[in-house]
Amino acid sequence: MIELNQVNKSYGKHQVLFDIDLTIAKREKVVILGPSGSGKSTVLRCINGLETIQSGDIRYEGASVIGDKAMRRMRLEVGMVFQRFHLFPHRTALENVMEGPIWVKRMKKQEARELAADLLAKVGLSGKEDSYPGKLSGGQQQRVAIARSLAMQPKAILFDEPTSALDPELVGEVLSVMKEVAAEGMSMVVVTHEIGFAREVADRIVFMDQGKVIETGTPEEILDRPQHVRTQSFLSRIL
Ligand code: ATP
Ligand code: MG
Repeated sequence: MIELNQVNKSYGKHQVLFDIDLTIAKREKVVILGPSGSGKSTVLRCINGLETIQSGDIRYEGASVIGDKAMRRMRLEVGMVFQRFHLFPHRTALENVMEGPIWVKRMKKQEARELAADLLAKVGLSGKEDSYPGKLSGGQQQRVAIARSLAMQPKAILFDEPTSALDPELVGEVLSVMKEVAAEGMSMVVVTHEIGFAREVADRIVFMDQGKVIETGTPEEILDRPQHVRTQSFLSRIL
């Protein structure tokens, strides 16, 4: 459903992505691994149009998102969850989840309220509807962010290190919500260093280094039998 073909991206003179090829099929879970600065976030930002690319093509459901129409559609249908939640601080948990459906999808307020309450329950936050983000733990805030993304009824969600800003004891609750979303058939691209999650959930792992895809394979192939020396040395540092 999402395809990158020979994507090149530069910031000014500094090229950060080189000939990236990547496909994400419907319902597929792809985990992107790689050292800091290898271009993982940039790949996600290119996919959902937060960055313009210098060359290559990005296609969503068969249509190039370089065109406006497909870009609009992809923006509506592909959600993103960031490392630092990006919730509205002056809106309650419930209001944070309601915003998208009301403003983007023109949903009636009451309907949006019910949807948001259901989604907060789904991510384990019943009873926190009226809490402001500042009164929630990092793990709770990230679960609100996931509920907010789900409220747009996306066809795919991009996660950029969703647990790396969290205290270790809060990581599990977020990963378990992500696993539930995965089990329901969501297409997902997840940048993470959580190898256990990658092994359990990923259909494919993509290893990036210095702006290039170095190797791609099943979790067993990449984690247990990495072919490339750069993958081997990265894994030996984080495992
Ligand atoms: P990390 O694991 O630290 O999040 P990453 O793999 O997500 O790293 P990116 O954030 O995609 O890496 O960055 C890739 C390269 O692009 C880095 O060299 C970074 O310095 C550069 N870069 C990222 N964003 C910008 C920007 N807005 N302007 C200029 N250079 C940028
Ligand atoms: Mg990043």
